Amino acid sequence: PNCPYYRQCGGCQIQALSYEKQLEFKENKVRNNLERIGGFTKIPMEPIVGMDEPYHYRNKAQFPVGTDKEGHIVTGFYAGRTHTIIPNRDCALGLPVNREILDIVIDFMEKYHISAYDEKTGKGLVRHVLIRCGFSSQEKMVCLIINGKSLPHGEKLVEALRKIDGMTSISLNCNTGRTNVILGHRTIVLWGQEYITDQIGDISYEISPVSFYQVNPVQTENIYSQALSYAGLTGNETVWDLYCGIGTISLFLARQAKQVYGVEIVPQAINDARQNAVRNGIDNAKFYVGKAEEVLPHLYETEGIFADVIVVDPPRKGCDEECLNTILKMHPKRLVYVSCDSATLARDLKYLCSQGYELKCGRAFDNFPMGGHVETVVLL
Ligand code: SAH
Repeated sequence: PNCPYYRQCGGCQIQALSYEKQLEFKENKVRNNLERIGGFTKIPMEPIVGMDEPYHYRNKAQFPVGTDKEGHIVTGFYAGRTHTIIPNRDCALGLPVNREILDIVIDFMEKYHISAYDEKTGKGLVRHVLIRCGFSSQEKMVCLIINGKSLPHGEKLVEALRKIDGMTSISLNCNTGRTNVILGHRTIVLWGQEYITDQIGDISYEISPVSFYQVNPVQTENIYSQALSYAGLTGNETVWDLYCGIGTISLFLARQAKQVYGVEIVPQAINDARQNAVRNGIDNAKFYVGKAEEVLPHLYETEGIFADVIVVDPPRKGCDEECLNTILKMHPKRLVYVSCDSATLARDLKYLCSQGYELKCGRAFDNFPMGGHVETVVLL
């Protein structure tokens, strides 16, 4: 492995494999799951889409801050399955600018005697440093998550961070809970705006410190383009996007469809989805808050909703059976399944294909080089 901390850090599971072998491993993983769990024998898979540059692909990093035995402020990564910080400002998956930003933050803390948070005692101020960068906009965000309401000498930190090219947002996020949840509910802007913007395809998004946003924008665009192509839109279709998050897939498809509906369980994500629709001048996307397995059956029973195409992008546990049953009743011509766990994908495809659907084609995408996960998009 390239990274000297590979063994201690829990972040990368397969960095010791050459990238070529990583892709082979992931393609086999998908194929094996479809075969053994799904019972598929003929699997029409297109070749896996890997990355040209399998390092430095993450647009977001959250560094825990602590104090070492000698009393120095340290930042880096938790050792696998622990909360011991391994000092490392140079994670190979993150952007080179992370190091520059962390150097400034740690120097500032040392100079002004700002303490790091201690999980054991619940004392100390700075818990995490969150960094985000828009790949297409090159806008940068730094957010210090603090155990308190204000940062002494914050203006000095701002002065140093502002000099970084593309710096757009510097903020504090207050989290005084004795919890390992990273972000609190309140964000205070120290300088610039609360959010940065970024683009996927021709859709632009506002990203605040607390927003969910895909961490690998290069592969995300490839995945959405594949979903769009499998959806086969001509402009006349009604499309449902289930598990839509901040509406990224919905908006990506909206320009080529007649009407798009998104369903998502997190209310804040739906607020972002609606705002992103307005931001992009898209008026044929409508969003519902709730569980897909409740919203969809309810709307089907009460309003008799219809779909030409349904896209699902569920979390790792896959789709709820109630949701699949309603999809079967709605009977869309095309069903596009975007999956981050090929085992539950195989389980759900087996069910759908036992009820009349046919697995037409699929493709794996390496969204997390050096890690074990793989994304898959299939067309039924
Ligand atoms: N399609 C989006 C998000 C996919 S992640 C994107 O590409 O960015 C899966 C999403 O499903 C998350 O936003 C999660 O909050 C949501 N989710 C989880 N369980 C759900 C459920 N039962 N019903 C609806 N949404 C759910």
